[in-house]
Amino acid sequence: MPSRVIPVDPFDLVIFGGTGDLARRKILPGLFRRFCAGQVRKDAQIIGAARSDMTDAEYRALVAEAVREFAGGRACEDGTLDEFLTCIGYEKVDAKGEGGWRELCARLKDDHVHAFYFSVAPGLFGDIAERLRHFGLAHEDSRIVVEKPFGHDLGSARALNATLAQHFDETQIYRIDHYLGKETVQNLMAVRFGNMLFEPLWNAQYVDHIQITVAETVGVGGRGGYYDKSGAMRDMVQNHLMQLLCLIAMEPPARFEPDAVRDEKLKVIRALDPMTPHQIVRGQYDAGIGEPSYRDDVDDARSKTESFIALKCHLSNWRWAGTPFYLRTGKKLRDRASEIAVVFKDAPHSIFGSEAGRHRNILTIRLQPNEGMELGVTIKEPGPGGMRLMDVPLDMSFAEEFGPEAEEVPDAYERLIMDVIRGNQTLFMRGDEVEAAWAWTDPVIAGWEARSDVPKPYDPGSSGPDDALMLMHRDGRKWREIRP
Ligand code: NAP
Repeated sequence: MPSRVIPVDPFDLVIFGGTGDLARRKILPGLFRRFCAGQVRKDAQIIGAARSDMTDAEYRALVAEAVREFAGGRACEDGTLDEFLTCIGYEKVDAKGEGGWRELCARLKDDHVHAFYFSVAPGLFGDIAERLRHFGLAHEDSRIVVEKPFGHDLGSARALNATLAQHFDETQIYRIDHYLGKETVQNLMAVRFGNMLFEPLWNAQYVDHIQITVAETVGVGGRGGYYDKSGAMRDMVQNHLMQLLCLIAMEPPARFEPDAVRDEKLKVIRALDPMTPHQIVRGQYDAGIGEPSYRDDVDDARSKTESFIALKCHLSNWRWAGTPFYLRTGKKLRDRASEIAVVFKDAPHSIFGSEAGRHRNILTIRLQPNEGMELGVTIKEPGPGGMRLMDVPLDMSFAEEFGPEAEEVPDAYERLIMDVIRGNQTLFMRGDEVEAAWAWTDPVIAGWEARSDVPKPYDPGSSGPDDALMLMHRDGRKWREIRP
């Protein structure tokens, strides 16, 4: 049963980029759902800020449309949406100019928590932070939420951290990675650190390997211009996959508190061995029937940017020495599916003989779709006819377990925004974590550039290039099927 909803303190949330795609698809519908759940109180103020000329009423109409499209449901019809809209306002503000800032200040209530969401292009993060300070909005109780990408490499991430640090303390900076807000990701920590069952087995002695897959069916679509300068390594591995790796591999923190958790995550990133080229496969999707290739999508017939990556990495520490971590992510793959699979070693001796086959326990943590967990166990095949073994899943799907109440489980953005208001940084990346992740990623990317590495083509709807399969086969292992 989902936990009891405790309303957060009264707050004013300013969304810079409040008319943009992320605000319309995720932030505003998420706030509406928390309003419906009773977590956002009626005296909250949610203020969109962007350069467009708009009245409060016009912005409310935009918000209503976004909520209807992306949050939907009964609440839109029963008057709750109208109530929610009374919390909404708009201020025309230019992140690079002076106009609108004083009017914005005048709207904020002294006794409210002040949060500022930077849902704009990263090039504007520094300008907004500077103006918040200049107009007296960077006081000790205010906080800022910074979207990805956080830098393009170590140098730019350091520069951005330094800029933000001029105006805000680290305890006020919430670097968002929405993967950390997923219910299952937190459940991963609950399963690891709340049960006696798994933790004794959670090490190289018992775990053969770990696979992390984040597969998408869509191509780069309208994001081609941005994506082609980034690629899967920067867009997905450096942040989302790295964060998942941290949570699965970290030592138990002493307490479930922001710095205790983030210290342990940082140690994981720092324990990563440098990569060599044969540990990585890059791919780029080809054209399909009636479908453009990656190069068509980004309008560059010679693009060498990867839309797929598979890699094998190692952690040099006592817990994981000898256990490989295989990470894979890509676009235009056969299904949209994200999961972490912890593959345990074979039993040391099979008392059932070789004809019983090979059976392994696999703990699967599904992030999307159908968030949940599954533990594969080996049992006797039912019925007469001797001792034949089969693998069955012990399945805990949230949707099935909680029925309609699963609807009430906040999605990642909802949870993370509420954490910002509560002042809880546990599920946000600290500056040193982001820098450590870039420090590991940068030499890999520099190596590709130095070698003019060209990604391997793969068919849309496939599991990626054949070389990615070989990465596992060479080690006598195989990827799990990409399926929802
Ligand atoms: P977007 O659709 O292009 O929206 C950009 C917003 O910024 C608009 O509201 C725009 O409104 C405003 N803006 C632009 N220049 C401005 C300025 N000088 N001063 C004030 N406001 C300005 O972008 P988005 O997709 O929402 O992305 C926003 C951020 O979230 C980016 O950092 C992106 O990387 C990140 N992000 C987005 C997604 C996603 O799914 N969209 C996912 C993850 C991360 P005006 O033109 O009216 O000023």
